[in-house]
Amino acid sequence: MNATALCQALQQLANHPIDAASTCDQMSPQSAEQDPANAALNILLVEDNRVNQQVALTMLKKWGHQIDVAWNGLEALEAVQQQDYDLILMDIQMPEMDGITATQQIRQLDGKCALVPIVAVTANAMQGDRERFLAAGIDDYIAKPIDRDTFHRVVHCYGSQERPAPIEKPEEKADSVPASPLLGDEVLSYLMNELSGETVSELIDEYMTHSTDLLSRALVASEEQNAKNVEYAVHTLKGMSGALGATRMVDICQHILETCRNQGTQQIGLQMNGLSGTTEETQQALKAWRSEHEDC
Ligand code: MN
Repeated sequence: MNATALCQALQQLANHPIDAASTCDQMSPQSAEQDPANAALNILLVEDNRVNQQVALTMLKKWGHQIDVAWNGLEALEAVQQQDYDLILMDIQMPEMDGITATQQIRQLDGKCALVPIVAVTANAMQGDRERFLAAGIDDYIAKPIDRDTFHRVVHCYGSQERPAPIEKPEEKADSVPASPLLGDEVLSYLMNELSGETVSELIDEYMTHSTDLLSRALVASEEQNAKNVEYAVHTLKGMSGALGATRMVDICQHILETCRNQGTQQIGLQMNGLSGTTEETQQALKAWRSEHEDC
């Protein structure tokens, strides 16, 4: 059975049309953060970025789930053969083996591990991706930065017997100048409450190092008009920024990714300048935030 056939079979099993655009709409809308009816799930989190890992782990653990972490697709492929999971949360862009390939290979395994629900978690969901994901055997996807309520709904639904309809297509944003705040304080405050100040401080350090590195890789790739490398660096920067609530970075990265795809790398020069400035401002804002929070 090939991946597409298996995908179709899974959809029939789940008894819903692939194009339906509602995610667990039938579920109770009230915040289910501490819903006692939520069974603890065995979840495999596949993610190569430590900042993103920590943020997802924090939420999943709070909801009472049991989590294993795989750092790339190869590790995920091994893990599913060792243990039964209720759900796999799969990053797409990873070293060694990406999320698409890992999903395709998992779907080709023998036994019920091939049927595990796989939800992609990606900063890179754009037009065409959805079809690519579904064709690979991915059941659904959620966008980075992760929205806590959406994440909770999707995890709960895919982990339970009733499978939800896939998430709607990514909305197409107007091509306007991003004006979102540098830092959404909410995310950092949430992390401070759930993690130790020390851990949040480590994540901020990690962000400093990685964002500087990714920015310079993106700039080099832009100079070389290497669209693939631009996309990889900017996508990673977007996901990591979102994980810490750096919303302006997320918007700028999203704009660059869209321009890159729709018009090519020769059109992103100006936006890359904006990215440089915003990266620096974001780093400064994070440092300022840290010094304001004495526990850090
Ligand atoms: Mn990644």
